[in-house]
Amino acid sequence: MTFQAPKGVSEYVPPRSAVFEEVAEAFTASARRACYGRLEQAVFEDTQLFVRGVGESSDVVTKEMYTFADRAGRSLTLRPEFTAGLLRCVLEHGLHRGHLPVKVWTAGPVFRYEQPQSGRYRQFYQFDLEAVGTADPAVDAETIAVAWDAYAALGLRRFRLLLNSLGDAECRPLYRAALQKHLRGLDLDEATRQRIELNPLRVLDDQRPEVRAQLTDAPVMTDYLCAGCAAHHDRVRELLSDLAIPWTDAPRLVRGLDYYNRTTYEFDHPLLGAQSGIGGGGRYDGLSEDIGGPPLPGIGFAVGLDRIVLAVEAERRQDAERDVVAPLGSYSCQVFGVPLGDGAHRDVLALITRLRRDGLRADMVFGARGLKGAMKAADRSGASYAVLIGDHERAAGLVRIKDLDNGDQHDVPAGDAAGWLTERLATS
Ligand code: AMP
Repeated sequence: MTFQAPKGVSEYVPPRSAVFEEVAEAFTASARRACYGRLEQAVFEDTQLFVRGVGESSDVVTKEMYTFADRAGRSLTLRPEFTAGLLRCVLEHGLHRGHLPVKVWTAGPVFRYEQPQSGRYRQFYQFDLEAVGTADPAVDAETIAVAWDAYAALGLRRFRLLLNSLGDAECRPLYRAALQKHLRGLDLDEATRQRIELNPLRVLDDQRPEVRAQLTDAPVMTDYLCAGCAAHHDRVRELLSDLAIPWTDAPRLVRGLDYYNRTTYEFDHPLLGAQSGIGGGGRYDGLSEDIGGPPLPGIGFAVGLDRIVLAVEAERRQDAERDVVAPLGSYSCQVFGVPLGDGAHRDVLALITRLRRDGLRADMVFGARGLKGAMKAADRSGASYAVLIGDHERAAGLVRIKDLDNGDQHDVPAGDAAGWLTERLATS
């Protein structure tokens, strides 16, 4: 019997996993440059944390959670998103009692029981960044800039930033009532009618064409913002202009998780079809209190690493000058050792270990292989040089170094080989 991964699990193996690493590293580097620190948090949490944090009526909580009882009968849930658990972790470790804002990021698998399709999985990977403890609109702009710069560093050019404000406890109820009034007059099915009463903003997110067609005249939140929310929204947009970050106002943008207020944003990519969202975030000024903490405004984003991998591949495929999957940069080696004859394995292993300790990427042939097979493996490895050691070289105290790009061969004294190679490769 052979096993397969459970349905909808996203996995990466070499060489494609190098693109995944590149994507994750671009976000990590951007976060580090903005002085965000790493947080490694629980993969499963008390189910109630998500019910209270993400929202009882959200799709994530009602339909998509992987919830199980542990052996002591506790109800636990695999994290369906990062923010609620991250805030729980910040509060539990008392970070909010130190310097504010608390600026942290984390990354890893998240789990949602969704209908799998391209770009939509049940186990997928997010990078998540949050700034907790300030209502300053400058930090809204900062989080957007961190994400923007990471997408740009990956060479992406065709992504967009969609921006909205969802108001706050003062102005949203007025908007909610106006929206409900409008929606009740439309021709909608029973489930959607129920949603109007429970969570009318969600109806704006309905993707069905027959529903979308009826939403064109629906009131928008930005027309109802109170003075404080309007000023905040204007400020964020001014700051984005200062940072040369273009955005599209998206007055109907709402998000799948209930905790958002004020600044709300999404990044999308046109080459990804139906699952075009490559990241999203916003403010959640009431979330800390929802999960039993003190008042603590916060903002952050989560990006979908799987979809960003797809976007990077799609743009590179369109761009003739770059490889489709340009991973060999990090997974290919620079030097490939070829032992010829029994005794040579020890010498080759010692040499490539020395090269690794000097910082080069080096690999070698394992097992018994003829010269032809070994040279084929050397070519496939992407290395610039093959190092051949056979009985003849050992007797003469030499190693033969073959330049795999042009075929040139050099016989170098064994003691000098590491220095010879390091000199030529250390900077590549
Ligand atoms: P959310 O946590 O729903 O705000 O989603 C943040 C980002 O995670 C989205 O913009 C997507 O890029 C990604 N994402 C959400 N759900 C999935 C999924 N089921 N599979 C893959 N990526 C996802």
